[in-house]
Amino acid sequence: ATPVSIMVGTGRAAEQGVLFRKGEALQTLRNASVIALDKTGTLTKGKPEMTDYQVTGGINENELLAMVAAVEDNSEHPIAQAIVKAAKARQLQLPEVTEFNAHAGMGVQASTQGHRLEIGADRYLQKLGYDLAEFKHTAAQLSDQGKTPLYVALDGKTVAIITVADTLREGSVDAVKAFHKLGLKVAMVTGDNRRTAEAIADTLGIDEVMAEVMPDGKVAAVKTLRQQYGDITFVGDGINDAPALAEANVGIAVGTGTDIAIESADVVLMRDDLRGVVNAFAISRATLRNIR
Ligand code: ADP
Ligand code: MG
Repeated sequence: ATPVSIMVGTGRAAEQGVLFRKGEALQTLRNASVIALDKTGTLTKGKPEMTDYQVTGGINENELLAMVAAVEDNSEHPIAQAIVKAAKARQLQLPEVTEFNAHAGMGVQASTQGHRLEIGADRYLQKLGYDLAEFKHTAAQLSDQGKTPLYVALDGKTVAIITVADTLREGSVDAVKAFHKLGLKVAMVTGDNRRTAEAIADTLGIDEVMAEVMPDGKVAAVKTLRQQYGDITFVGDGINDAPALAEANVGIAVGTGTDIAIESADVVLMRDDLRGVVNAFAISRATLRNIR
């Protein structure tokens, strides 16, 4: 494409809230055969709510939730915020916490009121040696509804299951349909539970799910998808999306995402709507057609 047609194309995109940080992305975008999207904060709003909470073994529900929320109050993860919010809605006082530790992509642990707590994904509690068999049926049912199950261990015993659920962004369903019309394979990359991720992917009509991806595993996911399908566009919002945005042939950041994601991206969406990505593809194709 000529410099002028690129300028016209990026100008038109900007009018629609799609910022091309690099003009050449307008050309590279056309070669994409697969588009991979981060789930939390990209396809979904990234503001989960606590939906279910079940305690076993005669433990006081509110006392336990107060302790769990107190621990989570030290974490910045959106899941943590959902739990703190739920505890506050029940007007629970959060006790003091010591020895807090967060394990990225896994969960959190701390001590409070003389008790030791571990809270997180099944893989986290399993790694610590806990048996989750008692929750298996409940977890499967809730995961199939697109809810994310978390487990709570108290003083070495599993005592509760909590689920959180996030809402899809308004434009996500339409965007996936449009990507298919453009002939793209659509993939979702997430640290979430496989079963939960698949339920959400089903709702969206997504072709390929890469679930239980650790925060540092997104680059590998991009490489795997590229090997399988060819040129890849990656869309994300978070700190842990930055390396994948840089690795992809074209990286697209959701504008309300973190600065580091925006800096690593070739294209930035000024509005929180994935239909902007569809516009970017359309403009890319139109620009390159005009110069033929
Ligand atoms: P995602 O961005 O898809 O949520 P993460 O890698 O941040 O992926 O987290 C993966 C999983 O690790 C979460 O789904 C959750 O099960 C667990 N996890 C992470 N942080 C926390 C936390 N603060 N409290 C409980 N569970 C957590
Ligand atoms: Mg995200």
